[in-house]
Amino acid sequence: MAAAPLLAIHDYRLVFDGFEGTAHVLDGIDLELGAAETLGVVGETGCGKSVLAKSVLRLLPSPPARVVAGSIRFEGVDILAANDRAMRAIRGPRVAMIFQDPATFLNPVFTIGQQLLDVIAAHEREKPKAERRARAAMRAHAVSLLQQVRLPDAEALMGRYPHQLSGGMRQRVLIAMALSGAPALLIADEPTTALDVTIQAQVLRLIADLVRDLGLAVMMISHDLGVVASTCRRVVVMYSGTIVEDAPIARIFAQARHPYTKGLLAAIPTLAGSAAKLSGIAGSIPNLIAPPPGCRFHPRCPLAVERCRAEKPALRDFGGGHRVACHRAEES
Ligand code: SF4
Repeated sequence: MAAAPLLAIHDYRLVFDGFEGTAHVLDGIDLELGAAETLGVVGETGCGKSVLAKSVLRLLPSPPARVVAGSIRFEGVDILAANDRAMRAIRGPRVAMIFQDPATFLNPVFTIGQQLLDVIAAHEREKPKAERRARAAMRAHAVSLLQQVRLPDAEALMGRYPHQLSGGMRQRVLIAMALSGAPALLIADEPTTALDVTIQAQVLRLIADLVRDLGLAVMMISHDLGVVASTCRRVVVMYSGTIVEDAPIARIFAQARHPYTKGLLAAIPTLAGSAAKLSGIAGSIPNLIAPPPGCRFHPRCPLAVERCRAEKPALRDFGGGHRVACHRAEES
């Protein structure tokens, strides 16, 4: 019998209620992630990838967010029905998240050591009293975490303030915090977008090494297929709150079947190509308050036919872990 997935999301539908109407932000997400599996989630800004990641940790304020249908289960726990105590045992200890701009998530008036110790202490409070670490052991753990993310002179770093660190170092501190509870799943939401290219490569290498060494599952959110390709074995492509394609990363690059995925691939600049030849995807993302009927991509799709305007394409299995939501996927 196949092992139960670490994370299972089924027919998940989420809306945001606002003054102008109800935005249909996620429309029937079906996704499973196994233990130690590395998954990239890519798509344009506004496609719902960050909302999906936050849904797993129930971090969205309600209102405006409202779950309309579906389920999210992590390690068998029903996330949508879990009480606050159950969520505290999942958020951080079992599922950790790192965000886009590390400066925003570190308090400028406390040292790195104080902030890291606060996170470790919060995890300890979730354990039975007899198993909790003493203060000295928590401090030693904090130093070892900073060493694990390859920050030099970890002891001295404990006494420094965030403004004394570069952007790359701050992101490593946040990764250390994320690892402090020994999670089974790391969600990384555009973790390198705020960093320059050389530091970005170092942080991606670090995440890839940690994932391999610690046996973590990863959900890497990005608008950049290149970022996902360097850290993940599988990729899910999202468009306007739906999954349009799901495949092993090599297959996406070699045999993408969805017109939107193909458009994303064609928009990646190459050293050999000239800027004049770089293609984009015509049009813009749809208004989620009144999304297009049928396939949400049809107003921008060069292959759209009448059926696309009337009928939402199901996410169909093409074998080898490849799923595509397109009426014309066989023609690709
Ligand atoms: Fe294009 Fe139709 Fe496929 Fe949607 S279902 S991607 S509109 S061909």
